[in-house]
Amino acid sequence: MINKCSFCKSEESIDNRLLAGEDVFICENCVVSAYKIFFGEEDELQTEQEDVDLTLFTPKELKEVLDNYVVGQEQAKKVFSVAVYNHYKRIFKSNQSDDDTQIQKSNVLFIGPTGSGKTLMAQTLANHLDVPIAITDATSLTEAGYVGEDVENILTRLLQVADNDIKKAERGIVFIDELDKIARAGENRSITRDVSGEGVQQALLKLIEGSVVNISPKGGRKHPNQEFTQIDTSNILFICGGAFDGLNEIIAKRLGSNVLGFGQEKKNKEERENLLSEVEPDDLVHFGLIPELIGRLHAITTLEPITKEGMIEILTKPKNAIVKQYQKLFSIDNVKLTFEQKALEAIAELAISRKTGARGLRTIMEDIMLDIMYELPELAGSEVVITEDVVKKRAKPLYVKPIKKSA
Ligand code: ADP
Repeated sequence: MINKCSFCKSEESIDNRLLAGEDVFICENCVVSAYKIFFGEEDELQTEQEDVDLTLFTPKELKEVLDNYVVGQEQAKKVFSVAVYNHYKRIFKSNQSDDDTQIQKSNVLFIGPTGSGKTLMAQTLANHLDVPIAITDATSLTEAGYVGEDVENILTRLLQVADNDIKKAERGIVFIDELDKIARAGENRSITRDVSGEGVQQALLKLIEGSVVNISPKGGRKHPNQEFTQIDTSNILFICGGAFDGLNEIIAKRLGSNVLGFGQEKKNKEERENLLSEVEPDDLVHFGLIPELIGRLHAITTLEPITKEGMIEILTKPKNAIVKQYQKLFSIDNVKLTFEQKALEAIAELAISRKTGARGLRTIMEDIMLDIMYELPELAGSEVVITEDVVKKRAKPLYVKPIKKSA
């Protein structure tokens, strides 16, 4: 007996497959109709529209978004905006042309000191594009014995951030910080690191170049009776970051041998730092990354250490600058908060001395503001001025006065 769809009575065939229930069958057409009845036709249209929306941001628009939050780092913002634009264009537009030229997936490598804005850039664009982002640290990947499994856990996290929506996760962003820490010991380097760094690089390579990976939706170790979710990583944008200490020496050596006879003069510190922007893939191989991995990180860009002026700008200028946040907190209690320029400078100097980049700013501020926050509700109607002494001496040199009523 030939099975028939219980709804439209069409017969089962190779072209008309049926889904069987208990004594009932349903064909694909009826499933689609049922979906439309329950959820409407708009859903489908909307998803397509969303896809197009993502590509509508031009590199310039993306950079403007970054400018609102990230201070300085002009070149890195430009390279990143172009890379993100190309990435989403590749996903949503490349199938619209007739030829079969495949645009290769291009991932990003940020080289720059800690606290210079690498994660912030990735996070900012992910928020703006409304794509999920999973942030992880490459060093944690070496700790587990089962390297491959651990690497795949990044995807589990991405899926969780995407509310378990596989399609959404498959076009998300994965940010892997401290990639330099899983370099194998290079010829120029004295660090002692076991070869497992290379194993992790191989595992990462598999994800980054694009493959279908089985992950356990809840994370943790895989076991045979567990259900797996398959994630295709071909459209996930991978961004790697690292400080790559010692890379400038490798670059200097290469440039020195290229310009033999001219490279003898002693380079000052600034020149040495600028060297990083001359980085070439080969330098990264010398550093200890495997060539295949570097080959997948097409957009390589460098970030500069944050200067004192940069620190002050970070404190005061971006959309959600720390000073603005405190001012808002204070204004809720009807207290006006002002920072003297010298106080901002002192905070910036303190942050630089801690060598954690702009990351240190928030801790320093929290430290300074604790006592005054403690008293805040009692200060309603006043203005609090943070002076240099407040930052440097931590005594109680707060200058509190009633807010002037503007006429
Ligand atoms: P990393 O380069 O180590 O990834 P992050 O991007 O995580 O550093 O920076 C840590 C914090 O420092 C950010 O959350 C942000 O508050 C601040 N920060 C760092 N660099 C910048 C920058 N260029 N512009 C604005 N804020 C920055």
